[in-house]
Amino acid sequence: MNFEQFFECQLDGLRDAGNYRIFADLERHKGNFPRATRYSDGKTSEVTVWCSNDYLGMGQHPATLAAMTEAMERCGAGAGGTRNISGTNHYHILLEEELADLHNKEAALIFTSGYVSNWATLGTLAARIPGIEVFSDADNHASMIEGIRHSRAPKHIWKHNDPEDLDRKLSEVGPDTPKLVAFESVYSMDGDICPLAEIIEVCEKHSALSYLDEVHAVGLYGPRGGGIAEREGLMDRISVIEGTLGKAFGVMGGYITASANLCDFVRSFSSGFIFTTALSPALAAGATASIRHLKQCDLERRRQQQNVRLLRSKLDAIGIPYMRNESHIVPVMVGDAKKCKFISDLLLDNYDIYVQPINYPTVPRGTERLRITPSPLHSAEDLDLLVGALSELWSHCALAKAVA
Ligand SMILES: *Cc1c(COP(=O)(O)O)cnc(C)c1O
Repeated sequence: MNFEQFFECQLDGLRDAGNYRIFADLERHKGNFPRATRYSDGKTSEVTVWCSNDYLGMGQHPATLAAMTEAMERCGAGAGGTRNISGTNHYHILLEEELADLHNKEAALIFTSGYVSNWATLGTLAARIPGIEVFSDADNHASMIEGIRHSRAPKHIWKHNDPEDLDRKLSEVGPDTPKLVAFESVYSMDGDICPLAEIIEVCEKHSALSYLDEVHAVGLYGPRGGGIAEREGLMDRISVIEGTLGKAFGVMGGYITASANLCDFVRSFSSGFIFTTALSPALAAGATASIRHLKQCDLERRRQQQNVRLLRSKLDAIGIPYMRNESHIVPVMVGDAKKCKFISDLLLDNYDIYVQPINYPTVPRGTERLRITPSPLHSAEDLDLLVGALSELWSHCALAKAVA
């Protein structure tokens, strides 16, 4: 086989469909969020980032940085081993205590990323609980899907955010079959929020384990940033709450919180937890400081929500179509892969505005979009520049505006 030719041919297919990914080469500016230097063709320019998952700018908050610097001064760079073989640092223990407290659970377990936490936990639970069957929301993140697939447990996909369909599908399986229900609170691409109370009721009715991915909600919702489950007062009715340290908390890593036994079970049986180097102590310290800050301060959350409302009203005023939802995510709909990439390129090249185009397979074909995430640190001028640029490009590309 001509391997090189095969790779090239596959990549050409992506290019033809407008789905080939090109990374923006950025250097973020500490103390000047959301500004970054863009490197392109040997030149540099200063851009405003509008699509970061560092939703609150905590990645450069003084509290986060001071904690990371101090931990690095005390412990050095890396953890030096897996958790079991010399890699458990005191900062990991503090972080796990902080997370258990955040979600009002007995215990927490940290992983290298949110992806790994989903993959490893679902993979382990679904593979090792005898006879268990998994019920997965149709829009679940790739990390959950891969974990469930890896477990080889029978899988049922229920209609997105539809507790009645979940109830029906759970009813089709015998009452003695152990069941695991996996879903998210805030869905990343549409920004919609699940009917949490209804889903939990269905889980309880069928005595199913419930597994909730709060990756796009932790730090952002609830009085202490515990996510949608905290906001709704439902944390203690969910078996496993999973989150990331890499989005609103601004650092890196993932975690689960659950009963002490469940966490100990995953700690003891999960390959994706056991056989990998522990998080750097500095990352753990930074995440702990960030979580602590957002537990007692909601300034960032309030300013973010304010900017989200402001952006939506400005888009409404000029008729740019976006998907309506209850969250902080503003998906501006383009509906065509090539146009989406074209608009994103023009925003970057002509306006110094960076919004990554979101194309298939991240979203279904025909729903290509610019996923905009306003932060507390975007200024009124930033908003006006973005909306002005979108307005010009919409006319330029002859895209439909929403009828007011
Ligand atoms: C980003 C994401 C993850 C993975 O989290 P990372 O920490 O980035 O690996 C998991 N679930 C959902 C829904 C996500 O969007």
